[in-house]
Amino acid sequence: MDTTNILSTMPLYHDSMTYVDCAGDDTVAQELETYLKSHGFSAKADKSMIVVNENDIDHILVHFLKETNRLDYKIRKIDSENLLLSKEVQLEDFGFFRCEMCGYALSSQEELLVHRRAHGIQLL
Ligand SMILES: [Zn+2]
Repeated sequence: MDTTNILSTMPLYHDSMTYVDCAGDDTVAQELETYLKSHGFSAKADKSMIVVNENDIDHILVHFLKETNRLDYKIRKIDSENLLLSKEVQLEDFGFFRCEMCGYALSSQEELLVHRRAHGIQLL
């Protein structure tokens, strides 16, 4: 990730900063920048990456996701300065069906039924 450009625009805040990577989602980054600013933080978005002049922003991100109704997003801590904000992708969203016995993913309900039967045969 290239953070040099953002850094040079905020030279005063080197000590306590957090980078939030919005995983390629520029829209979320823009909204988050606005949100953080409206809550008194100094924030700057560069495409989908945001830099904030604050270390402890986990709880603010949680509020942001709640208030913007992004309940399927998750915040992951990469390290002390980097957070990743991304949508949790559920396999089922892409039309997959998951076997509850072994976790195997199948593309149709029929295949899943056949697959489940295979478990039954193995168990006999
Ligand atoms: Zn299975």
